[in-house]
Amino acid sequence: MSSMTLPYQEPLVPREPGERQIPEPPRRGEEGGPPCGICGGKTTAAVWSDDNWTLHPPVGGSLPGAVWLASRVHVDSFSDLPEELQADFGRVAARVERAILALGDVGRVHLYRWGDGGAHFHVWFIPRPLGMLEASGVALPLWEDVLPNVPDEELRAAAERVAAAM
Ligand SMILES: [Zn+2]
Repeated sequence: MSSMTLPYQEPLVPREPGERQIPEPPRRGEEGGPPCGICGGKTTAAVWSDDNWTLHPPVGGSLPGAVWLASRVHVDSFSDLPEELQADFGRVAARVERAILALGDVGRVHLYRWGDGGAHFHVWFIPRPLGMLEASGVALPLWEDVLPNVPDEELRAAAERVAAAM
């Protein structure tokens, strides 16, 4: 992580966290919250799927090859997945990783599972461009945000190449 550099000029000034919101507002797909976009088909169409998982391109992103994987069942996090899907996640994550690396020009594939926006299990796979060491670790999603977006069609085309290599 020593080479990690934030995509902002210094000095950055630390600030205090805001007041906590307890209880937290309900997320999409959670009781009392808006409906689940994944179950409602409101997301990008899947580029690949099997009995357990669907794989989707992002919109409004800057790194072609980024995809997110969702469970077919509406459950929240790892601990809510049936045990066979917990095990199968490792198998399918390896396939997604290998398929993204096969695009070329990728240094490493990062996985992120936040779950702060929606309550339907999904994991992000984000390619770190080869040689872009300043985007190591937690800096990659910040760089992803700051770099200029590419057209959604380009993101989808790259995700389709990932799907073809699955
Ligand atoms: Zn759902």
